[in-house]
Amino acid sequence: MSKSVALHTLGCKLNFSETSSMGRMLENDGFIKKEFDEVADVYVINTCSVTDNADKECRMLVRRIQRKAPEAMVVITGCYAQLKPKEIAAIPGVDLVLGAAEKFNISHHLAAISKGDATKICSCDIEDVNTFTASFSKNDRTRTFLKVQDGCDYNCSFCTIPMARGKSRSDSIANVVANVNELAASGIKEIVLTGVNLGDFTPPSPLKGELEKVNAKSLKGDVDNKENFFSLIKELDNIEGIERYRISSIEPNLLTNEIIEFVSNSKRFMPHFHIPLQSGSNKILGAMRRRYKRELYAERVGLIKTLMPHCCIGVDVIVGFPGETDEDFRETFDFLHSLDISYLHVFTYSERDNTHALTLKPVVPIATRNERNKQLRNLSYQKLQYFTQQHIGETRKVLFEKQDKNNMMEGFTDNYIKITAPFNKEWVNNITTWTI
Ligand code: SF4
Repeated sequence: MSKSVALHTLGCKLNFSETSSMGRMLENDGFIKKEFDEVADVYVINTCSVTDNADKECRMLVRRIQRKAPEAMVVITGCYAQLKPKEIAAIPGVDLVLGAAEKFNISHHLAAISKGDATKICSCDIEDVNTFTASFSKNDRTRTFLKVQDGCDYNCSFCTIPMARGKSRSDSIANVVANVNELAASGIKEIVLTGVNLGDFTPPSPLKGELEKVNAKSLKGDVDNKENFFSLIKELDNIEGIERYRISSIEPNLLTNEIIEFVSNSKRFMPHFHIPLQSGSNKILGAMRRRYKRELYAERVGLIKTLMPHCCIGVDVIVGFPGETDEDFRETFDFLHSLDISYLHVFTYSERDNTHALTLKPVVPIATRNERNKQLRNLSYQKLQYFTQQHIGETRKVLFEKQDKNNMMEGFTDNYIKITAPFNKEWVNNITTWTI
């Protein structure tokens, strides 16, 4: 008899796309997919290392599973499972821990264990992780997150992602195109290109592929491989059927003028960027080991707004990084205030094991971190209000998604303004003209 499986994602869109792909793989292997709050034979939790209390959340979910289905197998995977496999394995009720390289071999590992066996950890040194597995989410018919790149070669001093996901590696352009064609054929209208360091997209060259058969090395492209993220978006822009692409998040130093100019002329790439800033103080950017200064960031925003005055720009920022004085924070606040951006994602710095930032002093008191977070969230609210108000009265294209509980529906304009409207079946997954 077929077994059932329920999956749950903690964390980012990349994890979300990978959970979705794991689910499809398990379905192909004969499992029946269930909702996470239903009773199932196997539960999979795909964890995140960025979430502050990944371990607490994991424990809570496992306890809930044990109450509901004490005989079910519990599998934990994802970034946190790669970083702290022993900690995860010690959680009562966990049967299998799968690290970064093993998560897509889940069926194989499940077949090898039984409930009641000692908890099994299948994880390898992150240095040895060099395969790329394409993933995409497909939970509704409208929008999908397509992973085209994984891992990161940068070494930002606060970040554990390179330790959890390994070195930068990318899909080939041909594979991405094949996936996009498949998604278009299934009725998807909007694709969000996703990766850990998306702008570092470097497809493996064919020659390198041949060499790898002989000598398994990294999947990162050769230095003479001229294909990059710009080559990818040019290729994708020609595919019929997909009406919209968004670029999920791109480092300012990799968001080149040619990419910005291309998006400004494209009918399919939406006027919407998400560009991490992290700090508006050059001193703090240096301590964070970011690869740009605030001047470059301001230039990028300036070019975007010159070419696309209607463009939506989201910004990631971290408050309370070690050494961030009141003056440094004020610099960040004033810088963000002066920029023509649309919203902020504000993160409060929190200590992470094995990062360089742990050695930096002085540590910012938690109350100060929280206060700074509040100030930037208020600024974000004002920025979003201002951005939205500038477009009131304009007629723009909206892609509406499915019905919500209150008989309403939501959608986004090309430039990412959220529109709520009474439900209309005709509008679902169709581009509709809408006056804001
Ligand atoms: S660019 Fe920096 S913050 Fe982003 S994943 Fe790489 S190391 Fe982490």
